[in-house]
Amino acid sequence: MPSTSRQLTAQISLSALRNNLRRVREKAPSAQILAVVKADAYGHGLIRVLPALGEADGLALMELPAAIALREHNYTRRILLLEGFFSAEELDEISHHRIAVVVHNREQVAMLEATELERPLEVFLCINSGMNRLGIKPSETRAISDKLSSLPSVVTLRLMTHLGRAETKEGSVDALARFAEACEGLPYPKSIANSAGVLRYKAIGGEIVRPGLMLYGASPLAEKPARLLGLQPVMSLRSELIAIQDVPEGEYVGYGEVFKTSRPTRIGVVACGYADGYPITARPGTPVHVAGRRATIAGRVSMDLLTVDITDIPEAQQGSPVLLWGDDLPVDDVAHWSGLIPYQLLCAVSSRVRFVTTEVTRVHFDL
Ligand SMILES: *Cc1c(COP(=O)(O)O)cnc(C)c1O
Repeated sequence: MPSTSRQLTAQISLSALRNNLRRVREKAPSAQILAVVKADAYGHGLIRVLPALGEADGLALMELPAAIALREHNYTRRILLLEGFFSAEELDEISHHRIAVVVHNREQVAMLEATELERPLEVFLCINSGMNRLGIKPSETRAISDKLSSLPSVVTLRLMTHLGRAETKEGSVDALARFAEACEGLPYPKSIANSAGVLRYKAIGGEIVRPGLMLYGASPLAEKPARLLGLQPVMSLRSELIAIQDVPEGEYVGYGEVFKTSRPTRIGVVACGYADGYPITARPGTPVHVAGRRATIAGRVSMDLLTVDITDIPEAQQGSPVLLWGDDLPVDDVAHWSGLIPYQLLCAVSSRVRFVTTEVTRVHFDL
């Protein structure tokens, strides 16, 4: 933990995360939930948020060292490696820690065939249903699943796919049909839905769903704000004003010529910059809350600071609290104004930011 009195803090609400996990349960009541916690729980801190994930049936992530750390923290439920293993050397450790793996190509099948393991693995065979990223061809499904289920190094098999366009209603029609056809007649449980899939395709997300983003309280659906989905922001990024400038009309603020005052303008200077993870691409107009009221970014974000127009917030003064995103200010809005996606903002919060965990959060809505 950085020791400084610089006030920039990422506040992590465990109760918001529990609420969001309940929303997944409501949307997919009969499915098992593998909470996706890759990239250090989307930047929230994996071990930090673990106490709020007790209702999940398991966790899914990409990084083997983090999976092992979970076992060392006595996490006993299922853990799935979303990209599986990268070399045969990893298999002993994976088996020893009872970690499930995605298999998405023939090389991984060959590695499993050539190995003898302490405990055989649970395998999720990934089928390319049209995203054209990871996965075997749909036409290979029967042959490869027959092969895998006959191997001594495999104990159980699941079939999975990942949807590339679930954020729109029609985006997954083809993919779901291809996946259904590939799996036809095969007896294995299926795993399909990410967050957008959970919210979009109630009944067809498969027996095992893999939500990530929605757990953290951001919206995976372009047209629906998180609030209307019953999701609460888990991270609130907070700072304070460390200086105020009264700037005459016609002057530039910050680096370059991004923002020129069109009236006498009161500028608040916030202790938060791109080295903390705030996006440099945030355009003038990006919302920031100062003393509980909405202000907007004025000028380019710099490494350690950003500037906001607080002309219409006369009560704002040095030390006034600033909310960059979270509670009443969706990270989705900041991402939108920055030309980014909420995933990237959450993952980018840097180690320079102090993290604090809270149990309770304000309750804004109840659906
Ligand atoms: C990241 C990931 C997820 C979670 O996606 P969200 O959009 O964050 O819900 C699910 N499945 C796979 C394979 C992933 O890589």
